[in-house]
Amino acid sequence: MPKRYNTRLIKQRRSYSPSQIAKLFSIDRKTCFRWIKDKELKVLGLNTNQTLISGVDLKEFLDKEKAERKTKLEENEFFCMKCHKAVRAKTGSENIVKTGKTIGKDSKDQLKKIGLCELCGTKLNKLLSVYRKD
Ligand SMILES: [Zn+2]
Repeated sequence: MPKRYNTRLIKQRRSYSPSQIAKLFSIDRKTCFRWIKDKELKVLGLNTNQTLISGVDLKEFLDKEKAERKTKLEENEFFCMKCHKAVRAKTGSENIVKTGKTIGKDSKDQLKKIGLCELCGTKLNKLLSVYRKD
């Protein structure tokens, strides 16, 4: 599972060496070099011996990574925790149930959709944001 990075720790006006970034996020320095090499994290001062990354670039890079990881779900899809991706439920396994909680001013019933992953059979859960009659 990819790590989440708290980009608020980054001071945008300063620049960081890979070691400093590693320390900031408790990651290995190698991870940082991999970002530079494979994922095109921008570096400053290529003609110096030291690798430096500006705070702005670092933040932008991590925000972009995060956005790319986010999975958009279609109406009929679930996120399977085991497959780590958007999946559909097995035909006939889908059901809408009450969670027992109410939401909003009107105390509407909170509903969730349940089902079984069509790929691995794991239980799937998805909260429905609004109450629907159908
Ligand atoms: Zn699955």
